[in-house]
Amino acid sequence: MNDCIFCKIIEDKLPAYKVYEDEKFMAFLDIAPVNPGHTFVVPKKHFVSLSDVPKEYTADFMTVVKKVGDAVMEAVGVEGFNLGMNNGGVAGQIVPHVHMHIMPRVESDGLKLWPSKKYSPGEDKQVAQKIRQALGQDHEEN
Ligand code: 5GP
Ligand code: ZN
Repeated sequence: MNDCIFCKIIEDKLPAYKVYEDEKFMAFLDIAPVNPGHTFVVPKKHFVSLSDVPKEYTADFMTVVKKVGDAVMEAVGVEGFNLGMNNGGVAGQIVPHVHMHIMPRVESDGLKLWPSKKYSPGEDKQVAQKIRQALGQDHEEN
């Protein structure tokens, strides 16, 4: 049996304030919002994290995020929002059904962005090379 709370919301077995639905995606309010209008966009099929989402979903995912994000801004009367997706427990993912947070922002709402670190000398070049290798783009010398 699938114990995923988001699957249960999608299947109407748990309540949520749903705001959007199409063939592949659904959007509903976060139960504990950063600000009113904080909304999730989720694929209706169960995938744990972005790494599990197949190509047939990825472009449409962002199309729906943009559509819902614009509607949220208009509905709650804000001029900006953050997107957030926690992939994996180490990244703070609590609900193991991939979801994009759309978080409307208002001045001085207290939401802090991530802290920043410094690279040690040469570390940035090495990391960039490894990422290019992982992407099969290691022919370039930067
Ligand atoms: P994440 O996995 O993105 O780190 O955190 C899970 C998010 O889901 C939190 O923002 C939390 O408020 C939200 N959440 C947890 N349980 C429920 C629920 O039953 N319904 C809804 N609508 N949101 C939930
Ligand atoms: Zn699920």
